[in-house]
Amino acid sequence: MFWGILMIIIGVPVLLFGMMFMLALIGLPSGEDAALIISTGLLLFIAPGTLLTVFGVKFIARSDKKKRAQRQAAYDAINAASPLPVPPEPLNPVPSPPQSVNPTFKWIDCPGCGAKKQLQSNQTGNCDYCDTLLVNG
Ligand SMILES: [Zn+2]
Repeated sequence: MFWGILMIIIGVPVLLFGMMFMLALIGLPSGEDAALIISTGLLLFIAPGTLLTVFGVKFIARSDKKKRAQRQAAYDAINAASPLPVPPEPLNPVPSPPQSVNPTFKWIDCPGCGAKKQLQSNQTGNCDYCDTLLVNG
């Protein structure tokens, strides 16, 4: 891009200068000297000026194309990288059940009748059969 612009910046004035040079020579009497001067002007100014301008334009056109391709590639990359739609968080998440401290139950043998009763630790209860006080702990 930069070099293309530089080529045109140099090429166009050189070309214009060459044209002015040729125009200035029109009034001169034609002769071998004029032909020499014209061909010199053509060679020195118009030819390089034209080449520089043409190449500069081509250069810019090519880098523009390249830039467009890069932009397209970047666009594709962004599209590819964009994550899939994330399912929204539930507004009312199901509360996790409280970590219930499982009381340790224990089967207690009734000292009175030998029946078994389940009691929470450090709790007391009465036997279902003989009403004896049972203590777990
Ligand atoms: Zn009992």
